[in-house]
Amino acid sequence: TMQIFMPLNFLGFVYREIRGALANIENLFTLLSKAPSVLDDKEAAPLNVNKGKIRFEQINFGYEPDRQILHNVSFDVPAGKKVAIVGPSGAGKSTVIKLLFRFYEANSGEIYIDGQPISKVNQASLREAIGIVPQDTVLFNDSIFENIRYGKPSASDDEVNDAIRHAHLSLFINSLPKGKDTQVGERGLKLSGGEKQRVAIARTILKGAPILLFDEATSSLDSQSEQAILSAFREIAIGHTSLVIAHRLSTIVDADSIIVLQDGRVVEQGEHHKLLAQKGPYYHLWNTQQKVNS
Ligand code: ATP
Repeated sequence: TMQIFMPLNFLGFVYREIRGALANIENLFTLLSKAPSVLDDKEAAPLNVNKGKIRFEQINFGYEPDRQILHNVSFDVPAGKKVAIVGPSGAGKSTVIKLLFRFYEANSGEIYIDGQPISKVNQASLREAIGIVPQDTVLFNDSIFENIRYGKPSASDDEVNDAIRHAHLSLFINSLPKGKDTQVGERGLKLSGGEKQRVAIARTILKGAPILLFDEATSSLDSQSEQAILSAFREIAIGHTSLVIAHRLSTIVDADSIIVLQDGRVVEQGEHHKLLAQKGPYYHLWNTQQKVNS
């Protein structure tokens, strides 16, 4: 019996590990990623988030030594503001996010949150401070209600219900055959991309992190679900510092500031109307997308 018991016990352990890690959904990334593990400093103190101001200062980075991806990237996300990153495919937008999470270490330069270099704080506290709405959300073979609770395993049913309301998911969940007990995931009901992103928004609301990241899905959703997601995100972003990776410029017209990345360099930064008036790279991106959409 011992031989049978051991592997089962081990599986249980792995399951609990994964389930625990998914309390912070982005940790899945850490678990699965082949990235060299970034180690904490011996004296690493917890990050102490006050207002959630983010600062990238002269960041240089490459995944491989002979191919530099980011070149002297500097920008600020003021506390409580919404900043968007746009740019062509391969410009380095996701790389910026991965560095902020410290999945990788910059080759030079430093990233600060409320004045604290993220290379000096412990990673658990860093990831605790950041809520992410990823492009593609992982759903487990569990009910939709429990899937949302993954955002904060200790959350009460009332808290989960609140998050559902704020993520504009109530109508959708009530329309399901078994309501909130409906099984989702690989062996259950399949959700659309937009529905999954709203589940991610609900999880992020539960997590209650001061800094929010939103990675807009590359594939476009129908405009109704896109509007639902955007308004849900706008609502939760109030009072939070947020960084949005946008593929459709129409979704970030209201951002406090837009950073245009090209070949790993910040080539322009400002708000929508100012960038349009400059008739530079942003203006060209905007016009290209308008043509595609018309
Ligand atoms: P997209 O809009 O297509 O998502 P992006 O602007 O987010 O693009 P990144 O994903 O940051 O671009 O990629 C920037 C560059 O880094 C690309 O040339 C890509 O090939 C390279 N890159 C990304 N991830 C890795 C990796 N794990 N190892 C090596 N190179 C990578």
